[in-house]
Parts: sequence; structure tokens; C-alpha cells
Amino acid sequence: MNPETFPPTRDAALARVHAVRPSDYARSRNAIEGAVTGLSPYITHGLLSLPAVLAGVTAKHSLDVQHKFVFELGWREYFRHVWSFRGKEIFESLHEGLLPQTSYSALLPADIRQAATGIPVIDQAVRTLYSTGYLHNHARMWLASYIVHLRKVCWRVAADWMYGHLLDGDLASNHLSWQWVAATGSRKPYLFNADNVARYAPSNWHSPGSVIDTSYEALDRIARQPLRPSRDVAQTPSSSPALVEPPLLSEPPSVLGWTAPNPAAIAGRDVWLVHPWNLADLPDSLCTDTLVVGIFVRDFHHLWPWNALRWKFVASRMAELASLRWYGDADAIGAALQGARQVRSTKEPHLEPWLAGWAICETAPALFPAVDRRCDSFSQWWTRATRGMRTAADLLGTLPKPAR
Ligand SMILES: Cc1cc2nc3c(=O)[nH]c(=O)nc-3n(C[C@H](O)[C@H](O)[C@H](O)COP(=O)(O)OP(=O)(O)OC[C@H]3O[C@@H](n4cnc5c(N)ncnc54)[C@H](O)[C@@H]3O)c2cc1C
Repeated sequence: MNPETFPPTRDAALARVHAVRPSDYARSRNAIEGAVTGLSPYITHGLLSLPAVLAGVTAKHSLDVQHKFVFELGWREYFRHVWSFRGKEIFESLHEGLLPQTSYSALLPADIRQAATGIPVIDQAVRTLYSTGYLHNHARMWLASYIVHLRKVCWRVAADWMYGHLLDGDLASNHLSWQWVAATGSRKPYLFNADNVARYAPSNWHSPGSVIDTSYEALDRIARQPLRPSRDVAQTPSSSPALVEPPLLSEPPSVLGWTAPNPAAIAGRDVWLVHPWNLADLPDSLCTDTLVVGIFVRDFHHLWPWNALRWKFVASRMAELASLRWYGDADAIGAALQGARQVRSTKEPHLEPWLAGWAICETAPALFPAVDRRCDSFSQWWTRATRGMRTAADLLGTLPKPAR
């Protein structure tokens, strides 16, 4: 995929929905060149909701609720479910992993950051991540497994790094997936070897003769022992030049057009607040004199900086929707909004501490019925969320959701 693969428009998002071929997806989704949808940047930033995606797909294909495609959409909502119950706990190990925390480094080594490990699957994954902001699920799993279990880097450090470079970076899906690989959120570690890469990736990713070219038993032993660099991860010098890691930026590049929060511009007006996670078309219910204001909250982006690709993706779409776009401290945004007649927006956990104090928030559309009891495994959650349903149409037919 090249950087133009994800134009930040609703038409591009809908074209991807129309292109979904569920049976090819189910057959080939594990392959790097398989029929995956590339929908995640659009879903993450709210250009499309999960119900809109499924409705678009089922308009052409009838699907069982247990279809692999529906199941994978479920993973996204399950991770949101865990986040809603666990809150900030998702940024710490949910339980102890294979080794004590002190066995893992707090630094992501330069050879990984620079795609210079000499292991083709790892270097290709990092190159792809930097150049496109997207990585196939299997490649994310390989990269995460290598970093945590072979190089003994703390999953949180590496998860923060990957989050910053993804167009679809989502704190729930990303950090909980890292925990799943690391075995701090699952019962066993995710491990992979060179044969697995050869089966699912194109030939320039194959990694024969490298540290991963071994049995699963040997990998499991390595994962459960503290690092012994000379024996476990003897480095093969990379034949390609080291990459420079793209910078992560805590404010939008100025060319993208934003100003400081300005109370005078909205005084006495009805405001619809657009943020980076609700970039759908504007609601039909907005009155014509409602002012649409886009916001980037400095407090969030100082903690979670983004690469330039993502800033461009989000800010370009926001510019289509909002005539005013502000970047500022949460305090300054909140103070500026106080002069408005009414402020409305959409709920979003990434802006959890602030948004509810600023605006009357609608709930973002969910695909599955809310599960009221915390589920610590996907299968537990899935059983509850799909109880009594046979087809994807049953799932769509349950909107809006009864509590369960
Ligand atoms: C280490 C790691 C980090 C990840 N970080 C993120 C992240 O920051 N943001 C993110 O959206 N996903 C993340 N995922 C999940 C998954 O890799 C991506 O959602 C998927 O690769 C996006 O590509 P796609 O849209 O082509 O997926 P498809 O396979 O075409 O799936 C369609 C949609 O289903 C959802 N989905 C599919 N698989 C998963 C999954 N395993 N977990 C959650 N949702 C899923 C996504 O919304 C996706 O867009 C991560 C996975 C791993 C292993």
C-alpha cells in the first residue's frame, strides 16, 4: 500500500466497504496480500461506524452472525468494552506476563526503530508502518511478538511507539492487542516462526536462517528466559540502509490550518464539535446556523503524538467539516466553549476527561448490544453480545441496543 491508499474522504471509505468480499476475506485474511479491507483508518476516526460498515456489506452479501468478518468487527468493539470497564488499567499489564516486569527493557532498540535488524519480516514491517501508517494484522502480531518475546522490550513502550505511527492507532485495540501478544492480557504468548512467515507473506519478507527460523518449542523456551543477547538474538547485519524514524508530532503541522481557541468566534452560537474520532458526515439534525468547530486537544497529543501522515489524514477531513479548527489546551478550549449557546458532540473515550464537561454528547453508534458485565475474554463477550442472533441482519436489526 502506498501513502495515497487512504484518501481522507467519505467516498474513499465507502468504496472500501463496497469492495469487501466476505468469502475471500474469510479465506485469505491471514495473508499479507489477502483480501483485508483497509477500513481501520476510517473506522478509527469515525468516518464510518461499524453498523454502517456492516450494513454496506450486507446490502450485497448475506452473512451469518458467526462469519469471520463480523467476528473481526467484534474484536474492535470487545476492546472498547474492556477499556470502558478497565479505564487506565489497560496501560498497565492486566496480569503478570511470562517474566517479571524488570526483565523487559524500557527502550526500543535503534535497530528495530531503523528497520535494520537484518530480519526481513521485521524490517519490512517497520518500513511499511512508517511509509503508509498501516500494517496488516499478521505483521503487527509478528512485530509485537519479536519485540516482546525475543528482544525483551516492555510491551507498553513498544505499543506507544506503534500507536504513534499508525493511521488507525486506537488506544484500546492497540494496547490490548499488545497485551494479548505479550501474554499479559491472555493466557499464552503469541509466537511465530520463519515457516509461518513463509506461508503468509510475500518472498521479500521471508526470513530463513534468522533467529526466528526455529521450532515453536525453542521459541517458547526463549520467551520464558531472560535475555541472553549473544545466544538468542545474534544480529545479522542488515543489507539495506538504516531508516530514519519519522518524527512524532504533538501538534498539527501549521500548514494544516488551525488557530488558538477563540471565544469571540462562537459567542452565543449553537456549536457542533468535531474531534478526531467523529469525522462522519455532519448529522442531518443540525440547524443551518449551527457553527461547526473542530478541536485538537493539546493535553491528549502531548501524551500521544502522531506522525505527519496521520495529522494530514485527520486535519484534511476535519477541514471539510469544520469552518473553525482549534488546537489548544483543554482548559483554553473549555473556557472558549463556555460562551456558546449550546455545544453538542459525540462521546469518545480518547477525550474522556474533557468532552463531557464541554458538550452534550450523543453516544457513538455501536454494532453489538452493550454487555453490562465485564468480560475478561473475547469468547465470553461474544457469546453475550450475539446471544439469540443468527444472521448479521439480526445484529443490525437490534439497533438501538437493549442493555444486556
Ligand atoms: C499489535 C497490534 C496492534 C494493533 N493496533 C490496532 C490499532 O491501533 N487500531 C486498530 O484499529 N486495530 C489495531 N489492531 C487490530 C488489527 O490489526 C487492525 O484492526 C487491522 O489490521 C486493521 O486492518 P483492516 O482494516 O484491513 O482489517 P480487516 O481485517 O479488514 O478488519 C476489518 C475491521 O475489523 C476490525 N478488526 C479486525 N481485526 C481486528 C483485531 N484483531 N482487533 C481489533 N479490531 C479488528 C477493524 O476495525 C478493521 O478495520 C492491532 C493488532 C495488533 C496485533
